Amino acid sequence: MANNTGDNSINQILDLDALPMILQQIHQEVINEYGQGNVADYIPGLAQVDPQQFGMALRTVDEQEFTVGAADTAFSIQSISKLFTLMLALDIVGEELWQRVGREPSGMRFNSLVLLDSEGGIPRNPFINDGAIVVTDVIAARSAAPARRIEEFIASLSGNDSNRIDQQIAAGEQATGFRNVAIANLLKGMGNLEAEVEQTLDCYFKQCAITMSCRDLARAIECLANRGKSHFKSSFHAEKMDKRINSLMLTCGLYDAVGNFAYNVGLPAKSGVGGGIVAVCPGQYTVAVWAPELDRYGNSVLGQLALEKLTSYTHTSIF
Ligand code: GLU
Repeated sequence: MANNTGDNSINQILDLDALPMILQQIHQEVINEYGQGNVADYIPGLAQVDPQQFGMALRTVDEQEFTVGAADTAFSIQSISKLFTLMLALDIVGEELWQRVGREPSGMRFNSLVLLDSEGGIPRNPFINDGAIVVTDVIAARSAAPARRIEEFIASLSGNDSNRIDQQIAAGEQATGFRNVAIANLLKGMGNLEAEVEQTLDCYFKQCAITMSCRDLARAIECLANRGKSHFKSSFHAEKMDKRINSLMLTCGLYDAVGNFAYNVGLPAKSGVGGGIVAVCPGQYTVAVWAPELDRYGNSVLGQLALEKLTSYTHTSIF
């Protein structure tokens, strides 16, 4: 394999022989940092998760997989689901979607209502809650069983039929997700929800409650690293998805901490308050990391650190 020393090219080719040791090293280093964050206790089902867990899976575009720690443990993907619903909604309505949601970072917390009212009910981007609820609404308004459709879509992308909704987590969020209820009502009041509020919200809470492992997540986003191609799914029109979605992840994928993440890691990525982060190195690999302790922005502390170490040790930041 190509080396990563003495060569001045940026975005170097992964040294696959060295990768198992690099992942071990990252694992050893990051677990020293346990205790610096908190689990997402505003969602009842997540408050009980053991905070000190760590898993990571990297998959190359030629299907080689490398894992460390709890890479096969299923966890709540939460906002990572927004990536998949965006793919699905774009597949359904194409560019029309952008009449209802923007493509700019918000600089606000992921569940903020502040800009939505002042900006005429058009959310800043599809990865914060208001934008994601609009994206989900596109699917909800056009499907007989929308949550099921999203579940099936994700399971087909990962090739694992057991990637399903955790109904208990969904019910817990349904019972306590007052901010999301407020967002959906504001969207409806401003004419940017097609389906009924309850219908779209039900689907949104359920998609967030889907559980997947790092390995499955790395598989499910393969099309974003591989020019739309995936070994697991053929019927989805993914051809132009990589450019569109990677750019959105780079600018909007980590809430209001996206600039720091781009600076430290330098890969398009999407996080969720379940402690997962997925990232894409175009043309080379996808990676998923999970560690439930979150920083104040809602991003996994160890997840960010692990990805920073990965792109530093392998010289595979896109910059
Ligand atoms: N279900 C969570 C919420 O709506 C998702 C948040 C996230 O992962 O960013 O609050």
